[in-house]
Order: sequence, then structure tokens, then C-alpha cells
Amino acid sequence: MAKVFCVANQKGGVGKTTTTVNLAAGLAAVGQRVLMIDLDPQGNATMGSGVDKRGLQLTVYDVLLESASVAEARVKSEKCGYDVLGANRELAGAEVELVELERREKRLRGALAVVQAEYDFVLIDCPPSLSMLTLNGLCAAHGVVVPMQCEYFALEGLSDLVNTIKQVHANLNKDLAIIGLLRVMYDPRITLQQQVSDQLKAHFGDKVFDTVIPRNVRLAEAPSYGLPGVVFDPAARGSQAFVEFAREMVQRIQRL
Ligand code: ADP
Ligand code: MG
Repeated sequence: MAKVFCVANQKGGVGKTTTTVNLAAGLAAVGQRVLMIDLDPQGNATMGSGVDKRGLQLTVYDVLLESASVAEARVKSEKCGYDVLGANRELAGAEVELVELERREKRLRGALAVVQAEYDFVLIDCPPSLSMLTLNGLCAAHGVVVPMQCEYFALEGLSDLVNTIKQVHANLNKDLAIIGLLRVMYDPRITLQQQVSDQLKAHFGDKVFDTVIPRNVRLAEAPSYGLPGVVFDPAARGSQAFVEFAREMVQRIQRL
């Protein structure tokens, strides 16, 4: 049965999409069966997986509104080695349309139940907000991966996310078990980043993943080729870190 992880942080530009597509590609590279779900209307994770969001007949929007199943709406990314349930701008409308509907937070969870056995991992790229879309992700998930830059304000806003996760756990999704912090865009030459990294470890202990993702230009270049860095340039330092992170995730789920 698949383990489902949301990649979430209500800040924009912190590395959610980069983490989602590279972890997906890393997991595929170590032999895991992966479904990547794009829950951000920007569709960056879709495009960054080699799938053109403008050409999609069906997306996660149709799944949320229950006009299509996951099996109907997913596409295979041949280059990346994982399946993609894509998104485009249409998804922005779902936010409003869902408010009127029953089981509005549990649409994605229900849809995923049917395909659980086909995957080892389902990864969900969340938008930069604690919206109805993110809530659908959290209701469907076993765990949350929070990418963080080791900067002074990194911890600010984390408490909102932690509270939301606690509430979802208490009221909507008893299965939501773990939160893991992933240090991304890390530059060890910057003393402040080392200090914040140490503080994170001291405060959150083993909730902080061992793997650290370095700042690496190849990871930033890859999306313009419609690929995760792990596929675009497997030898790059950032790509190797994401494959290492994939191995760490495989080990972690054995303890879940
Ligand atoms: P989010 O999805 O949280 O908005 P993105 O994953 O789109 O964030 O990342 C924001 C920007 O930072 C993008 O331009 C991306 O290419 C770049 N980026 C992300 N991670 C790294 C990294 N480890 N090294 C260098 N650039 C990165
Ligand atoms: Mg993003």
C-alpha cells in the first residue's frame, strides 16, 4: 500500500516543487513506484515532470470535483519514471467550487484509496497557502515533508503549519502521523545557515531529516528543460542529495 506524503510550507519559493519532483525521480531511481500529484494551480510540478499542463485533458481538478478517477486523469512521465496527476490554472477554481460540496476536504483521499495498491509512494506538491487544496492534501496523507531554508525567519510561520497539521490529525485524518523537516538550498559557508540548522536539530530532533539538500544551480536549471534535476543531471551534487533523501524516505516508512 502506498505511503502518501504532502510537501507543504505556506511560504512560496522555499523549494516545495523542487523537492516534490526530485524526490519523485529519486524514489523512481531506487525502484519505487511513484505517483506525483500537483495540487498547485501554477502547475510547476507538472511541467517540471515533462508533462505539458496546457495539453492535459484531465487533471487533479477533475478528480477533486469527482468528474474523473485518478486512473483516468493520471499520465505517465516516461522520462522521469513516475506517474503524474497534473494541474493547470483550472485548479484555482476548485478552491471556490469545493466550498459548496460535501466531504470537501476528503475528495483526494477518497480518490486515492482506489489506486493505493499500485504505488509505493504518492507525493503531493501543495500550493503556498493553507487552503482547501492543501487541506485535501493533508487529509489524504500519512506524513508531511516541510522543505525549509536555514534562514532567520524560517521558523516563523512553521507554527501555523504545525497547528494546521495538529487540527487535521485531531478532526479529519487520524492517519497523519509524521512531519519531517528537510533543509534545502543549504550553503554551509554561511554561518547563519549553520546556526539555524543546529537550532532546528536541537528543537525538532529526529523530525529533521539527516539528508541536507545543497544550493545547486543544476537543480534550478532543470525545470526549464521540463525535468527534475535528478533526471536532467544525475551527477550534480543536488541531484545526488535528492537520491540520498529518497533512500532515507524508504528507510523512514519502514518505521511508520
Ligand atoms: P516553491 O514550490 O516552494 O515555490 P520552488 O521549488 O519552485 O519553490 O523553488 C523556488 C526557486 O528556487 C526555483 O527557482 C528553484 O529552481 C530554486 N531552487 C529550489 N531548490 C534549489 C536548490 N537546492 N538549489 C538551487 N536552487 C533551488
Ligand atoms: Mg511550487
